[in-house]
Amino acid sequence: MIHIVLFGPPGAGKGTQAARLVERYKLIHLSTGDIFRRNIKDSTELGKLAKSYMDAGNLVPDEVTIKMLESEVEAHPRAKGFIFDGFPRTEKQALALDSFLTSRNEKIKCMLALIVDDAELSARLLNRAKTSGRADDADPEVVANRIDVYKRETAPVAEYYNKHGKYAEVYGVGNMDDISKRLFKALEEHEQ
Ligand code: AMP
Repeated sequence: MIHIVLFGPPGAGKGTQAARLVERYKLIHLSTGDIFRRNIKDSTELGKLAKSYMDAGNLVPDEVTIKMLESEVEAHPRAKGFIFDGFPRTEKQALALDSFLTSRNEKIKCMLALIVDDAELSARLLNRAKTSGRADDADPEVVANRIDVYKRETAPVAEYYNKHGKYAEVYGVGNMDDISKRLFKALEEHEQ
């Protein structure tokens, strides 16, 4: 099993690059944001709970997110591995993921972090707002809050993986194929 955490701020290109990693390594892509959006669309209890947090650009509480992620993993018993996209977003989620995987005799191979500067991120998010249909992309205040939440709560998660020797950075600006190649190389050169 290969489990990868794909990491980066909103607009870093995680969704696009996750699709390419899926194709190359035949993994299952688990995006917690996508799963929440699906639940909102289907008006599930989970969707109703998540909506107010997402609309404001805040994080859905850890307990709810962790439980959801674990049941998604368990729903794919034949998976060769997972790309976790948008998870973990807090240190508590990172700890929960480690102990969940340990209980299954598995582990994270590596966190791949996409590095994109702030000016490029703002431009990309403004552009995405025109087509994504996402309420949290359309409101500049919500976008600003998401970036703030990322810096405050999520960025420290990179340090968690770095401390455990499981962190690799990839420059996330330029041609999409080149970025994919950088990601493949970083993953394949990673020791663990
Ligand atoms: P994303 O599609 O990854 O940008 O996520 C959209 C929104 O879903 C976030 O702004 C959060 O409100 C919520 N969300 C997604 N993943 C998580 C997570 N791991 N923990 C808490 N909230 C999350």
